[in-house]
Amino acid sequence: MHLQQPHLCLGHCPHGVTCDPTAVTCCHLSHRSFHPPSPCAGSAWGRGMLSVWVGTQGRDSPCSGSPWWMVAHGAVTELCAGSSPEPGISAIHAGSQLQGTPAVPRQSRRRKSVAIAYEAGQGEGAEARWEPPRWREQLQRIRQMRSGRDAPVDEMGVHRCYDTSAPPEVRRYQVLLALMLSSQTKDQVTSAAMLRLRRRGLTVDSVLQMDEESLGHIIYPVGFWRNKVKYIKQTTAILKQKYGGDIPSTVEELVQLPGVGPKMAHLAMHIAWDSVAGIAVDTHVHRISNRLQWVKKETKSPEQTRVALEQWLPRDLWKEINWLLVGFGQQTCLPVSPRCSQCLNQDICPAAKRP
Ligand code: SF4
Repeated sequence: MHLQQPHLCLGHCPHGVTCDPTAVTCCHLSHRSFHPPSPCAGSAWGRGMLSVWVGTQGRDSPCSGSPWWMVAHGAVTELCAGSSPEPGISAIHAGSQLQGTPAVPRQSRRRKSVAIAYEAGQGEGAEARWEPPRWREQLQRIRQMRSGRDAPVDEMGVHRCYDTSAPPEVRRYQVLLALMLSSQTKDQVTSAAMLRLRRRGLTVDSVLQMDEESLGHIIYPVGFWRNKVKYIKQTTAILKQKYGGDIPSTVEELVQLPGVGPKMAHLAMHIAWDSVAGIAVDTHVHRISNRLQWVKKETKSPEQTRVALEQWLPRDLWKEINWLLVGFGQQTCLPVSPRCSQCLNQDICPAAKRP
């Protein structure tokens, strides 16, 4: 179903009906599911905006703080560049500021026009939303291959490297540090380095007090340990000065920290903040996505792969996909000489090496 004349619930009903926020359907939204808007803690359009997704819970919302709704800017109406909240709709951005919205300047009380994109076959000029033909089968088989949860990432990944009994801000700092150490480094080496650091009481203050030589001594032999010592010291000083010893809670702020890239930022959001702002794409996710042709055109970098995957992969899979593919890449779909003969996807993988 698509909306010919969509109405966002902005506090009054075009049909004169009072909206019941608990109702399954709402005439304000042309009989689509309706739930009350909630403040957006996500990063799609920045803070201080209210979100109003028209869609299904957990799918495709750019609003990472709330599973539900699309962001109303309180400003200009525009088409969402992100993925569809539901089949049939790319996005609807309301120009009006909603009740309870944090202080975003109201530009006009007049309702702005609403932009909608339709799926193929659901309106003139419709464009098909691309997705890989057999991805559900492929994903299901990867889940089956990963059901043992016995890859290095399962036992020694970053989610296993922090002290679960530490205060929340210390846990988050340890997650970020483990992520910084893990770049270009095997999980086993990262895990051992984190253990050595934690034995000394791994906090923002303890790292600030440590000199670079001692820090290098502890984290060696993680990859690029000399650079990482510098980045860790710089990042830790910023966390102390700017974030009160905690880590930032948005991808935008995280990638500003020295030595923190997009993959680390997204994983930090998943693990440290339990929030999904995007897909964490490392070398395994990048390689396997290309082998399975989960990207429309071949991508040249993990960042390109992230953008390509986020265009079609349902949002409720964004967190799982990293864990699944990293372990799959460590055990089966290896960078060199993938074990295609043991792979359940051999018959439906475009890159399979067949005997
Ligand atoms: S068939 Fe081979 S290349 Fe394809 S996913 Fe399986 S291991 Fe990877």
